[in-house]
Amino acid sequence: MKETLSLLPRLRAEYRGVISEAFRFVAGAQLLRPDLWRRFVDQFSVDADADAGWRGEYWGKMMRGACLVYAYSQDAELYRLLCGTVRDMMGRAEPDGRISSYGRAHELEHWDVWCRKYVMLGMEYFLEICREDDLRQEILASVRGQADALMERVGPGKMPITSTSRFWRGLNSSSVLEPIARLAGLTGEKKYREFADHIVSSGGTEVGNIFRLALEDELLPYQYPITKAYEMISCFEGLMEYVRIGGDEKWLTAVVSFADRVLESDFTVIGGCGCTHELFDHSTVRQANTTNGAIQQETCVTVTLMKFLQRVHLLTGEAKYADAFERALYNAYLGALNTEGVIEPSIAKDHPDWVLEALPFDSYSPLTAGTRGNGIGGLKLMRDNHYYGCCACIGAAGIGCVPRMAALRAADGILLNLYIPGELQTETPGG
Ligand SMILES: [Zn+2]
Repeated sequence: MKETLSLLPRLRAEYRGVISEAFRFVAGAQLLRPDLWRRFVDQFSVDADADAGWRGEYWGKMMRGACLVYAYSQDAELYRLLCGTVRDMMGRAEPDGRISSYGRAHELEHWDVWCRKYVMLGMEYFLEICREDDLRQEILASVRGQADALMERVGPGKMPITSTSRFWRGLNSSSVLEPIARLAGLTGEKKYREFADHIVSSGGTEVGNIFRLALEDELLPYQYPITKAYEMISCFEGLMEYVRIGGDEKWLTAVVSFADRVLESDFTVIGGCGCTHELFDHSTVRQANTTNGAIQQETCVTVTLMKFLQRVHLLTGEAKYADAFERALYNAYLGALNTEGVIEPSIAKDHPDWVLEALPFDSYSPLTAGTRGNGIGGLKLMRDNHYYGCCACIGAAGIGCVPRMAALRAADGILLNLYIPGELQTETPGG
């Protein structure tokens, strides 16, 4: 797979203004808090099956964002915290390598594979910033162990990946494609490539092959049999990684078609998707309806779309993906930063006994007259009476991928997007 653009080598960026403030806010309100890291690792000592929970996603999502933010900030304190929490999480592995927030009796159900995906992915992102060779080796061994434990039960001739969740007909579980493909790339091992083959050939859901639908390019994403936006975009991020490890290049056509159709039919004035809950729903057309509810334009969708657009931009070099990223960044994304520390109103009203603390990101954004900060996506209470949510955990990755979009290397020089005030240092081809 040949990308048109690439990341700048040895990039050091120092931005000013709103982007710099956003980096500082995310680090202070979230990433530099040891209590959050500890609490999210602790979700792996409780069986989440009682409420089909997804608390196990919190750690890996925040780790991915933290690694992207660290690549920019180079904050030594953040690095120290991340090393500690990675070790803490590796310590949760069972003898066969499994790290799961579900008990053995309930594994491979609900959000188990989804949460395991995030542990693997979080660790793989950490490998990109990890400086200690022995820690790198330990992490790689842990990710292999986690993948091996999953492949022990799931794959060709065993349980299909799409049968490992009753939610969204297996779309959530199928997004494990990304860390599996990355692992195949990191190790060069055939068995991981074969498992990735299995996931792609399973088609993303039990009721329709979303990868083939995108390749055929006849339906718009909101017309697919399953329309959960964030999980679906995640599967296409995985499909890109799959081509990177040697998967059929025709899937790049599917990736680009999918991106184009989302932008054409489900991309709003603020750069988000979905006006009906967290679903693709032809929101390009529906966005001005005054009957849309408060649960729309999910921040998980915005951030995942930004990450996806960044990669499609690298692949194609086309400016329209950078434009779409920019619209999402300056509107849906920055608008979702809860810089005023507002506690979501229904929490205070319905759960006065919980530990009331503002989350750093809003989950949903209004598109017509309304107020911010209504509803918490992926809300879960944890054993110590603290709560958190899915969008709050994914948020850091949004600002974290800005430097990977703002300046890139093209064949004939350096390409600038977003026009952020600040300074950049990089190494030219001649050194
Ligand atoms: Zn969310």
